[in-house]
Amino acid sequence: MLLKHTPEKINERKALVINPAKTCQPIGAMYAALGINSCLPHSHGSQGCCSYHRSTLTRHYKEPVMAATSSFTEGSSVFGGQSNLIQAFNNIFTVYEPEVIAVHTTCLSETIGDDVTQISKKALDDGKIPDGKYVIHASTPSYVGSHVTGFANMCNGMVNCLAEKSNVKCDFLNIIPGYVEPSDMEEIKKIIEALGVKYIMFPDTSGILNGPQTGKYSMYPKGGATVADIKRTGDAIGTLALGKTASSLAAKTLDTKFKVPCEIIDLPIGLSSTDTFIDTLRKIAGTSVPDSITRERGQLVDIITDMHQYFFEKKVAVFGDPDQVIALTGFLVDLDMCPIHIVTGTPDKKFEEKIKKITESVPYEVNVKAKGDTFLLHQWIKNEPVDLLIGNTYGKYIARDEDIPFLRFGFPIIDRIGHSYFPTVGYKGAMHLLVNILDLLLTRVDRDAPEESFELVL
Ligand code: SF4
Repeated sequence: MLLKHTPEKINERKALVINPAKTCQPIGAMYAALGINSCLPHSHGSQGCCSYHRSTLTRHYKEPVMAATSSFTEGSSVFGGQSNLIQAFNNIFTVYEPEVIAVHTTCLSETIGDDVTQISKKALDDGKIPDGKYVIHASTPSYVGSHVTGFANMCNGMVNCLAEKSNVKCDFLNIIPGYVEPSDMEEIKKIIEALGVKYIMFPDTSGILNGPQTGKYSMYPKGGATVADIKRTGDAIGTLALGKTASSLAAKTLDTKFKVPCEIIDLPIGLSSTDTFIDTLRKIAGTSVPDSITRERGQLVDIITDMHQYFFEKKVAVFGDPDQVIALTGFLVDLDMCPIHIVTGTPDKKFEEKIKKITESVPYEVNVKAKGDTFLLHQWIKNEPVDLLIGNTYGKYIARDEDIPFLRFGFPIIDRIGHSYFPTVGYKGAMHLLVNILDLLLTRVDRDAPEESFELVL
């Protein structure tokens, strides 16, 4: 296998990425757009880009992901894609009848210099966008950022193109859930509702990418944030943004444009981060925490206490998206595990500093890199082996080469199912994560136990 040739000796690389720990911006933009009800994502570029983005999302969610493309030819690559995009608006609104088209750019259209803001305005001025229909847009060249910044840019596009402020006094909170699974968005809503907080959450892919089989195909499933709701976000009493990289941009725009104050906290993955999330909600809403939530927390603490001996000082390597990795690393430290190799592929200036702080109590040297790749992670593991690897599907090569138990977590997961249905956020999600981690660790204990100590009860 190719990774067998990964050398132990680490050479500093500046201009070469090997096996990146990220994917391209438009994928995140497309995912965010799917979180609006009756929205068709549109890729302004060539057909190949759009096919790749759709197939990556389809493979991860195991649902058909619809999107349109400007279908650049050689001509549009030279002279620009304005006429293709305006023609596309006409075709899409006529044939597919969405309420919104969410346009994201690609490397090619950005390199040409197409100004999608100007093209969309021209289409509106020329009457090419029917009454009651909307076009929103985001700039997502993939030679910068990652799928996470693409998600952030499209959330920002929602605010820029749709949000308004009226003079009506409102008492609801905006929630920007971050780049999480549909199951996580469902769990976040469940917690907010249990606390009795009024809210508008955008985007919201629950019900869209994890819906039931009904026997009937619906191009625009019932879920998602409605345009009417996103328009009202300028009137909210505040915005709670979960995960800095994915959610802070839109939250800050709401603050700057409409004076809606924002609070940016970590994704509620694990015990401490979920405590912070619930405490923040409780303070904003002025309510107390209901028994149902307190009970879930108690169950989580009970599992941690009962099983602590199996987590204690186990070394872990983690890679993935910065918001997820930061919260998950905190959880691993809470469990007395030792996350020692940590990589994100997304550029994030504060990532390394934040991870260093979270892992201060870990009794080993901790390697951490933002804008890193899984080749480097593999080299670190060769030099200092770990008991568990956590990351997206691409980690399976390292896990196989090094014979390490491997937990699939993050995006994309294209060789297993479950992530769309079982959350990893909130106390319930943390229990789900714990059970999966324990299962892997104990399966390894069983596999490696000599016959005389192969125990029935662990
Ligand atoms: S050309 Fe750019 S936008 Fe298109 S698939 Fe490749 S990285 Fe993504």
